[in-house]
Amino acid sequence: ALAAFEIVAPLPAVAARLGAVRASGERLFDVLDQPSALAKEPETPGEPLRDETALRVRGLRVRYGPDEPWALDGVDIDVPPGRKVAVLGPSGAGKSTLAAVLLRFRDPDSGTVELGGADITDRPADEVRRIVTGVPQDPHVFASTLRENLRLARPEADGTELWEALRRARLAEDVEAMPHGLDTEVGSHGARLSGGMRQRLALARALLAAPRVLVLDEPTAHLDPDTRDAVVADLLAAAEGYSTLFITHDLTGMDRMDEIYVVADGRVLQHGGHEELLARDGWYREAHTRNGPAAPSASGAR
Ligand code: ADP
Ligand code: MG
Repeated sequence: ALAAFEIVAPLPAVAARLGAVRASGERLFDVLDQPSALAKEPETPGEPLRDETALRVRGLRVRYGPDEPWALDGVDIDVPPGRKVAVLGPSGAGKSTLAAVLLRFRDPDSGTVELGGADITDRPADEVRRIVTGVPQDPHVFASTLRENLRLARPEADGTELWEALRRARLAEDVEAMPHGLDTEVGSHGARLSGGMRQRLALARALLAAPRVLVLDEPTAHLDPDTRDAVVADLLAAAEGYSTLFITHDLTGMDRMDEIYVVADGRVLQHGGHEELLARDGWYREAHTRNGPAAPSASGAR
């Protein structure tokens, strides 16, 4: 299923693409029917968001129902402009819930999320998503051509822009090698592409939307351990200049991050740089010890 936050274009733009994609026989309406509007549109919007990328989360609490435990229970996180910030933690920590709030798919129960100093809940979801875009764990690829899959993000994009996005996502060479290039049919759910190519296509699509802040949710989850570190390096190179929130349960690439927040049970346990956290007692050092020296040093050796 599509992670709702992958709809990077405003809904009318997505609807404009429907004809082409629907002709491919896939039920895109499954996507549009998703309950992606759990976040309320503001009745009296504040000032338009400035083109600033500083993301500031304060005291964020979210739960899925009045009798549910807090999925996020008082979280403070900063993503300064252009920085690569990891949110690392075990399954169930609340990481994807954080992504949903940042992309305006879910409202905080309390606390604030500010983008360039303005509260995102004061702005329409479409506007927030032009600045903050995500690549979900299981990117959805439509049964259409590469071109149509890319243009879903920005229907007006021309060929130069499409190729630039492919190049940044390290997919350009693969596409050049295909006899039909951008007009290659990717098959149902992108079945004719490898998992890595689907991920890169989703990244290219996110980059095409020209966001300032990229939220990558578990980008290494389905990858072979041997290729993970190289993929993280590629992702971070592609995200150069963007503020990046790198959400993951695995330690790969943590030594490449500017800052790391360790989360568990909806709370931030630790915050700091890789070396700094390794030098401290706590979850981070224990996780590296548990995994043995092989995993972190293999990534550090690249
Ligand atoms: P992570 O991404 O770190 O694995 P999630 O944000 O997906 O964590 O989940 C955090 C907590 O919220 C978990 O306890 C999970 O069971 C719960 N949760 C997540 N999504 C829903 C949902 N749609 N309805 C009810 N509970 C949910
Ligand atoms: Mg998750």
